[in-house]
Amino acid sequence: MEEYFQVSAFEPYVSRADWDQLQSRVAIGVHLLLALLQRHGARATFFVLGWVAERHPDLIKTIADAGHEVASHGWDHRRVTDQTPDQFRASVRETKRVLEEVVGDPVIGFRAPSFSIVPGYEWAFDVLMEEGYSYDSSLFPIRRPGYGYPTGHAAALGGQPASCGRRVLPVAALRPRTRRAAGLGSAWRSRDLLRASVGGRSGPTATSRLLVRAGPPLRRFDTHHGAAGAPRGGIPIQLGARSRDRCSTPAGAVLRTAGGRAVTLSVERFSGSPAEWDAFVQVAIGRTHFHLWGWKSVFERVLGHECVYLAARSPDGRLVGVLPLVWVSSRLFGSYLVSMPFVNYGGPLGSDPAVQGLVARASAFADGNGIDLLELRSRAHLPIDLPVSHRKITVVLHLTPGDPGRVWRTLGAKLRSQIRRPQKEGITVRFGLDQVGAFFRVFSEHMRDLGTPTQPERLFEALAETFPADVWFGCAYYGGRAVAAGCGLRWDSEFEMTWASALKAYNSVAPNMLLYWSFIERAAEQGLAFFNFGRCTPGSGTHRFKQQWGSVDAPLWWYHHAVGRRVATPSPDDGAFAWGPRVWRRLPLALANILGPRVVRLIP
Ligand SMILES: [Zn+2]
Repeated sequence: MEEYFQVSAFEPYVSRADWDQLQSRVAIGVHLLLALLQRHGARATFFVLGWVAERHPDLIKTIADAGHEVASHGWDHRRVTDQTPDQFRASVRETKRVLEEVVGDPVIGFRAPSFSIVPGYEWAFDVLMEEGYSYDSSLFPIRRPGYGYPTGHAAALGGQPASCGRRVLPVAALRPRTRRAAGLGSAWRSRDLLRASVGGRSGPTATSRLLVRAGPPLRRFDTHHGAAGAPRGGIPIQLGARSRDRCSTPAGAVLRTAGGRAVTLSVERFSGSPAEWDAFVQVAIGRTHFHLWGWKSVFERVLGHECVYLAARSPDGRLVGVLPLVWVSSRLFGSYLVSMPFVNYGGPLGSDPAVQGLVARASAFADGNGIDLLELRSRAHLPIDLPVSHRKITVVLHLTPGDPGRVWRTLGAKLRSQIRRPQKEGITVRFGLDQVGAFFRVFSEHMRDLGTPTQPERLFEALAETFPADVWFGCAYYGGRAVAAGCGLRWDSEFEMTWASALKAYNSVAPNMLLYWSFIERAAEQGLAFFNFGRCTPGSGTHRFKQQWGSVDAPLWWYHHAVGRRVATPSPDDGAFAWGPRVWRRLPLALANILGPRVVRLIP
């Protein structure tokens, strides 16, 4: 666990002397991980830098309190190979001391920065033992410049050379009998834990995805009690770079199993039950609310679009990937296959081969049906070869779950006074599904003023009916009238403000500021870790509004496959549609509300 600027790859660019001047982002990933681990009932080991623990003791405490093991990653990410034995000793001693002070339990594990215990540096084990460590997790049995411990360990892995991908070397215990970690319970002998080495720089995203998804092999290790230091049977896991095999046919994808055997995935239009789809989505990495089955009926019934929901299945029929697509087609604007239109995220979920198979199938579908453009609005990098655009970003505020007061204290004085002002004017915010009507009145008037056609009220009513537990409507009232309103969705440990607006006439009392704060406060109260301000264009006014809350930009990954000349979905604010806003602003609201939905449903 380290800051993004501490990774070895940044060494030439970021001086250690500047570390304290750089923005800390480590908490963002940690909270995501904790939420993910909690959802799967999994426990993990966090190898933490002493440098980070000293600055974020509360974060380390949170990790330990959640039942995870805290172990050492050294003090400041200096490689073992760059230190003298004495320097190394000082680093691991001080890190152990600081971590134990925070956690209140013995810290017994170590992983070297950049896996830098390599042949010739075995003295590091002696130092670790002398300093009271019980196990090391730094050996990585491959040949690579800078790290890897390729010799003498094939046997420990079960005799097979790592020909079908890298292997994860199980932990090396430093003592014949591993000391039991106090406070971790009887099941937590250190050698029972898997420390998968994820140092492959060739495909970090794919790597972590597969490590998390490789359920059965990981679990196998729980029951493993081989001789310490020489466990029988390795844990073969197919890592990122290797699994980027091209799909064999548009309808199938090759999946290589742990044993290197190739099997073919089938990809077809999903014909299973909604429960099967949602059960897969609920635990898929990278899922968003918009992947849930309920959206299909919303798009079909309310907006009248055909949905093309694809599924990848393993030979035994198990679902291994999904891709929800909506087909938005008109003579005026063109024909688009989008995952997902009108909202912020979509794209395929599942294993790398499944994702590749699904995307190949979607491209073939687009080619075969005269579709101008296939667009996948992914939130993360995908293991596919389509062109990608980062023209949109999402802006996320990190919350302290359960503690809105703490979020409040992080806001600047100016911002806090902007939130207090509407409160002093008597503006109050109400939440509830009964706010749909009031929300829509504000939203539609605001959109008309912007010159943008509006979604139908029926859409928001359908969201309230379909997702009563996840959709939030909130309105700010001024003298009995709704003057600002928001609607968004929660999933995992995140809430996204998907639609928000305020009436221009009330700008002077800034109801918008109070509205946003009320949503943020509510999200923190409900134990969420992230308030997502939604999608925007970098550098826009909306972007600056979102940034002032202390939030962080996250790039989006929009992949496209263009058949025709269009390389991006049309946007109501694009130059080509510039005539729209001018005309639209002059329409009476009632007429705009009738015409708007007919137009906007065609602009994904
Ligand atoms: Zn590291």
